[in-house]
Amino acid sequence: MEKGQLLYQGKAKELFQTDQPDLIWVEYLNQATALNGAKKDQIKGKGELNNQITSLLFQRLDEKGIRSHFVEQISETEQIIQAVDIIPLEVVVRNIAAGSFSKRLAIPEGTPVKFPIVEFYFKNDELDDPMIIEDHIKVLDIATDEEITTLKTMALAVDEALSELFDEIGIILVDFKLEFGRTKEGTILLADEISPDTCRLWDKVTNEHLDKDIYRRDLGDLIPVYQEVLNRLKGEKKMYFVKVYVTYKDSVLDPQGEAVKGAVHRLGYDTIEDVRIGKYFEIKVAKSNRPIEEMIEEICDKLLANVNMETYRYEISTMEEV
Ligand code: UDP
Repeated sequence: MEKGQLLYQGKAKELFQTDQPDLIWVEYLNQATALNGAKKDQIKGKGELNNQITSLLFQRLDEKGIRSHFVEQISETEQIIQAVDIIPLEVVVRNIAAGSFSKRLAIPEGTPVKFPIVEFYFKNDELDDPMIIEDHIKVLDIATDEEITTLKTMALAVDEALSELFDEIGIILVDFKLEFGRTKEGTILLADEISPDTCRLWDKVTNEHLDKDIYRRDLGDLIPVYQEVLNRLKGEKKMYFVKVYVTYKDSVLDPQGEAVKGAVHRLGYDTIEDVRIGKYFEIKVAKSNRPIEEMIEEICDKLLANVNMETYRYEISTMEEV
């Protein structure tokens, strides 16, 4: 397939024509923006991660019968999508109070909402994307009654599917934003992207942000966090490799060590001052929410070392470093 003319330059993506009229070539960019573009930065690696996460999520949703414009991921940063006319609405679904909802209604962040809420915002930069109600959508001819119902039904179906998927990998889907488009035939398809840029994702155990709030609120480096979301989605477990060395305490006589020292001396190596014999363990541990150091020390104390006579030390590395 040939990449053609630039059709649309967005904040986070560029859309190009292809040699097939119904297909669009999308390139995910490294640009991060917040506060409607007032805060802007280039973050190397972000485009790749959002492309991979979005591609994976659109495929999972398709398996659940929720159709999107996604056709194929063709490179680390590129996708082919079906051409649709984007409906100028941001459809936000909320499971837990956060962000603008918390501010507007003075509901503390983290408060669960009774049932998933669907909100509509008018995609219009000049107006700063105001929230709009269904009658506004109809009066402005943005969508028909029937289409609004379809948008709400699809948004809630996405919420159910994604909440379950994220829950399985230890992540709470707090809220998210969707966009939809119409095909030539008028079918409504899920469009745009679904990534940590467009969702609030909190770690189930620690409640840490695994999303763009890291950038919006200056909480640190966004790349390892987005990578963590992708790894969990791909089912890739981070593994630790631990080396444990157990030896007699200095104050305890090591008869085997003494015997070896004697033998070494008899071979003529009389500069050998001391020999202590110990035990060595290699342990592989899947990453979990328990601090690894705490767990290893517990295992050593309970099993690997006799703490009255022996002492231990350990080295931890991640499997990639081994
Ligand atoms: N969101 C988005 N694009 C926007 C506005 C919101 O992707 O232009 C997402 C945002 O990441 C969050 C959800 O929609 O997951 C709800 O956002 P909210 O209304 O709380 O706005 P914010 O706090 O981002 O201003």
